[in-house]
Amino acid sequence: MLSLKFYGVRGSFPSPGSAMSYFGGNTSCVAVCNEVASQREALLLDVGSGAVSASEELLAKGVRRFHIFLSHLHWDHVQGFPFMSLLDRKDCEVDLYGPAEYAPLEQVFSQVMSPPLFPVDLKKRGAVVQFLEISKPVHLESLRVEVTPIAISHSDPALGYRLDSGTSSVAYLTDHQCGHDFSFISKELVSWAQGVNTLIHDAQYTKTEFSQKSDWGHSTYEFAVKMAELANAKRLIFFHHDPKRSDEELLLILKDWSTKALPFELLAAREGEEFQID
Ligand SMILES: [Zn+2]
Ligand SMILES: [Zn+2]
Repeated sequence: MLSLKFYGVRGSFPSPGSAMSYFGGNTSCVAVCNEVASQREALLLDVGSGAVSASEELLAKGVRRFHIFLSHLHWDHVQGFPFMSLLDRKDCEVDLYGPAEYAPLEQVFSQVMSPPLFPVDLKKRGAVVQFLEISKPVHLESLRVEVTPIAISHSDPALGYRLDSGTSSVAYLTDHQCGHDFSFISKELVSWAQGVNTLIHDAQYTKTEFSQKSDWGHSTYEFAVKMAELANAKRLIFFHHDPKRSDEELLLILKDWSTKALPFELLAAREGEEFQID
């Protein structure tokens, strides 16, 4: 059975501060483990600033092999990577997957993780890092998870990921650009997400905000709900919260949605929260 934990739930840039402390201010990072597979391995969806504490916690649990799947390379999805302490350990291995459009990924990361942008060259860290471009499903044998990518609409090439373990399933659709009339929900996407247990979906904007930022690459709460309905998901988790969205505002938005009869459980991603996935 898969379990997931949120380490970063914000979009665009980190937003520390007391007004954001309930949901958390770190950018995108979700850890997935499989309790019936190797406990030495874990999967990470994006490595935004939340990845720094994900690295610490997973290392303390004995994880030494990390499968990192990047939705895309915008800063809020990669900025934690250079600071992950696992990179300084010779007993750690990292397989880092990203969209094929950015190939060679190794070159991109080597450029930003070397002077003058970062003090230590990636090759001089201890861990063995392998860069892999992904366009087809990948089966992670010892973690017993199938990872199926899908191209999604965003301001730069981006991927969604569906994880299936045989008994559990999760779909991760962050930085997914919606249209004014739900026209970006393709049949292919609905079929890809069909019957998923837990859908983690971009929900950065209200309808009013979206009307001013309709080409910024993100979705409304309404769009995320529509996507969950079409996919027959059992649980929807709003994700990639706007960096200026306070706890108070987000709780009010959730309260408003709780008055509607929805055919699934609805939550907003909160840093530190863990879920068992059926
Ligand atoms: Zn983002
Ligand atoms: Zn983005």
